[in-house]
Amino acid sequence: MRIHAIQTGTVAVKERQLSGRGNGTLRLVNTMRDPVWTSPLPIYVWVIEHPEGVIVVDTGETARIAEPGYYPRWHPYYRLGVRAWVQPEEEVGPRLRALGISPDDVRWVVMTHLHTDHAGGLHHFPKSQILVSRAEYQLAAGIRGQLGGYLPQHQPRWFAPKLIDFPSQAFGPFTGSYTLTKAGDVHLVPTPGHSAGHLSVIVQEGAHALFFAGDTSYTQQLLLDQATDGVTTNMALYQETHRQVLRYLRSMPTIYLPSHDPESARRLEAREVAKL
Ligand SMILES: [Zn+2]
Repeated sequence: MRIHAIQTGTVAVKERQLSGRGNGTLRLVNTMRDPVWTSPLPIYVWVIEHPEGVIVVDTGETARIAEPGYYPRWHPYYRLGVRAWVQPEEEVGPRLRALGISPDDVRWVVMTHLHTDHAGGLHHFPKSQILVSRAEYQLAAGIRGQLGGYLPQHQPRWFAPKLIDFPSQAFGPFTGSYTLTKAGDVHLVPTPGHSAGHLSVIVQEGAHALFFAGDTSYTQQLLLDQATDGVTTNMALYQETHRQVLRYLRSMPTIYLPSHDPESARRLEAREVAKL
């Protein structure tokens, strides 16, 4: 299978967002108040040229973030917690075309979650089936979603994703899973924590697996260190997910690929297995 990393610009957040401090609301406050920014981190989208059709994991960020008011300045996170840089030609649509793939030919778009730097390119895929966990879709909706930092007001008008409930079909250490392909080699698994409806995509490729982790952890090292990010609203859930992912990594040679890990594209290219 040909699998590509597409970078749709960069994002900087507070160091405390990668590995947080404090409990409950204090944790978010600590993240916002942290004076230290990360260096600009990549925003990756993954493209899997599967025999049954092209699969895209997440859609990256849009260049529209440069328009005044696109990021809601009334929201503390957008005022204090995030900076991003995306050029129009860096959006997922033009990037796909540069690979010789028309966005209209993408069969499935799987969303790990609906934060703006993953959902900003949705408008490129009006013809694709888009999959989102039901929990995430509900969390991102309406005013409650906006308060939680989602931007549902920027979702395309036609956005009506297939909602995944995760039937109790165990997949390794994961209690539920959803199998995407007839070949049975692409699985969606729930990895809640960073957001309560977060999912990851596992692709079996020969004797190893590729684990498209979204923001399950921001980097592989943070997973191995069992660090907890600074924006989760449920630390216990976040840590339980990390234990399940680590169990999976012990059971199967796996290339672990978070969306913002500067090493992810290189690890994909080299098919570098996570060493525990
Ligand atoms: Zn996120």
